[in-house]
Amino acid sequence: MAYNAYDNYLAVLDKAAAKLGMAKDGYELLKYPERELKVSVPVKMDDGSVKVFEGFRVQHSSSRGPCKGGIRYHQNVDESEVKALAAWMSFKCAVANIPYGGAKGGIKVDPKTLSQGELERLTRRFTTMIAPIIGPDKDVPAPDVNTNGQIMAWLVDQFGAVTGNYTPAVVTGKPLELGGSLGRLAATGRGVMFTTQFLLAKMGKKLSDVSICIQGMGNVGSNTALLCYEEGAKIVGVSDVSGAIVCESGLNIKEIAAFCRSGKLLVDYDADGVKHVDNFTLLTTKCDVLIPAALENQVTKEVAENVQCTYIVEAANGPVTAEADAVLEERAIPVVPDILANAGGVVVSYFEWVQNRMGFYWSEEEVNAKLYTQMSNAFTEVWNLAAEKNATLRLGAYMVAIRRITAAQNLRGI
Ligand code: GLU
Repeated sequence: MAYNAYDNYLAVLDKAAAKLGMAKDGYELLKYPERELKVSVPVKMDDGSVKVFEGFRVQHSSSRGPCKGGIRYHQNVDESEVKALAAWMSFKCAVANIPYGGAKGGIKVDPKTLSQGELERLTRRFTTMIAPIIGPDKDVPAPDVNTNGQIMAWLVDQFGAVTGNYTPAVVTGKPLELGGSLGRLAATGRGVMFTTQFLLAKMGKKLSDVSICIQGMGNVGSNTALLCYEEGAKIVGVSDVSGAIVCESGLNIKEIAAFCRSGKLLVDYDADGVKHVDNFTLLTTKCDVLIPAALENQVTKEVAENVQCTYIVEAANGPVTAEADAVLEERAIPVVPDILANAGGVVVSYFEWVQNRMGFYWSEEEVNAKLYTQMSNAFTEVWNLAAEKNATLRLGAYMVAIRRITAAQNLRGI
């Protein structure tokens, strides 16, 4: 059966609600996004022609506060994916216990095929078209796959132009010069590093005791790799869109991250002992911790049957399919789920929004310390509920989220 991200979300939701002993009516609302906006975005291309791009903003839930979630630019974006990503954001914010609901946006485009000018015009037009439904108290976008601080800068400027009020808190992940937060750029990777530490601590281990394999060298993958490497972990494999590399004795991650950040591709990387492999080989490389940090639907049933890791930590959203989850449970390979492991990004987005509204800014040390506390509390709550209900960490995280979101809905009488 073809992979459908939203069906994956619904399958896990039903399982978690059943574990909580909830009647169907008790969580029915969580199955539907509150609001979905689909837009056709016209862009004047550099050659004078006009191209129309498909864009989405889906708001899954505002029960616990303004909707929150990134915007991705990718050629495979579709409605089911954006719906699932929006629902996962509601759950992620609930697990992290920050006062937000969940949303996600996306444009079906490969941004590598656009010039800077085309990218700016696409972003500005999309912002104008979603402006009626976003705002600091309604819905707050942020970066996601293939979007960054520059794109958020155009968004905040365009929103100000459309509404007549320059409003920094309408979007997070902004450059520091425009009210971004120190620590935001590396926050998702730092949160992944913290959760990996928390998991290992439960097993009496440290990062310096383990080998790690990471799929993806974008913002999340590269920061996760660097931070784990600095803590002494041996990184035995990494990949980007062009391919994967492995080295049993450990890769020089500082050099590789700098290589990737300079715009070069891993197919062109060469060093002693480094082997170029395909994606399947990377994911099934022998290691202690496998960290998928790219896209959803990567650890499929077939991959799950062949992985040679002890743990999986999900840095991407939805990288392990529901079918693969069952195989991993059978094989007793714990999975720290996305809505816990990669919550560091949205937690520091929350800190950015708070700082914008206060007009008072924290040091990087303060941000990182607050992030640590938030992640540590979330991990403990998920771990304890999973243990109490004899469930996987994914179901534990979903159960924490379902309880929090439905409690808010019931109190509000939604
Ligand atoms: N795109 C990130 C995520 O999937 C961050 C979202 C945000 O900061 O709002 O969690």
